[in-house]
Amino acid sequence: MPLNARIIKALVYRIAVILFIGALSGCGSKSGQLLTYMRPELLYLNPQPYSRLYVEVDTIEGFEVTDQLLNELKSFLNKYCSKPDGIEIVKDKPVPISEIEELSIGLASILCTDGPGTGGIEQPAYLHVLFHKKTGLEGGERTSRVSSFCPCGIFCTEGKAKAFALKHEAGHVLGLCKNTAHGDSAHCRNRGCMMYAHRDLFWSLGSLAGLQMDKLCDDCQLDLELGKSELVEPNLLFKGPFLIRQEDGYSVASLPFCDLIIPASVESVLDWNEALSFIKEKIKEAQKATLNKDRESRKKMWYVTGLYNPNDTNTSPLSEIDELAILKRAATDPSLPVKNYAMDKLKEFEQEQ
Ligand SMILES: [Zn+2]
Ligand SMILES: [Zn+2]
Repeated sequence: MPLNARIIKALVYRIAVILFIGALSGCGSKSGQLLTYMRPELLYLNPQPYSRLYVEVDTIEGFEVTDQLLNELKSFLNKYCSKPDGIEIVKDKPVPISEIEELSIGLASILCTDGPGTGGIEQPAYLHVLFHKKTGLEGGERTSRVSSFCPCGIFCTEGKAKAFALKHEAGHVLGLCKNTAHGDSAHCRNRGCMMYAHRDLFWSLGSLAGLQMDKLCDDCQLDLELGKSELVEPNLLFKGPFLIRQEDGYSVASLPFCDLIIPASVESVLDWNEALSFIKEKIKEAQKATLNKDRESRKKMWYVTGLYNPNDTNTSPLSEIDELAILKRAATDPSLPVKNYAMDKLKEFEQEQ
């Protein structure tokens, strides 16, 4: 085992691949869940603190994504995101189905994630797009989606990889319809708007009549325009592909379908590459461990959460007291997966006593 991996093993603990229901914002449903405690969309809309946007595009083997589709995504983002140093869309090699077999699409997306190729260049804003076929483990997951708890990734399903669906999901990433003056916090009430919840009869007829249905209404466009000059919350940032939210005493490092609680004292030295490799290793372990189990138990694995103490020469393993203190704080976190994880762990501690 390489030295690095051994260090990670020794010092990182209490991380689990768990069951968590309700992590997807429902494009099919009338209203999705609203992120009220943070506004990551401003990291995309504003030129500060990130003057570049890096979009990593992954496809599962057998899914063709045309350059035209990606160009449409790029011009959509170009129009609404103020990124003076450019928007880069990087398409990775297709991921072999064998590698992600029997994984939920959320965990599969983590395995595909490489993060921005920084190569010494400054950190950009980061967005992950995964085109996939239904895996059969998705419990009826058929439509394109954005994760509710970390809306920095788009999941585009087979047959829906039309520019319309992709741009609609990008609209969610950009925080559209949180303005409830013309929406229900996830979708727009203005008919004909690209962010309208349902492609209903009106939409179908409009499409048939050759009307352009993939445009944003004036209200939505205005919201995006206003967002460009709104203040970005100082506790939100990207580290590689991770969205980091700094809280009192701890930080939360998120990917779609993954939340790591990180002690505040070590967040500044977090090596995102190391953290990402570690999570991938955990997912592969869980994948192996359930290979011989029944389908039901495999279906349960679709969220990674845990307390992560990244190692650095400046840090040491957490003492039980430190860990308890962090968990107590995280137990009141506004994000459900983080809060639930912390509360569960606290309960375990109590039972051990
Ligand atoms: Zn939607
Ligand atoms: Zn609208």
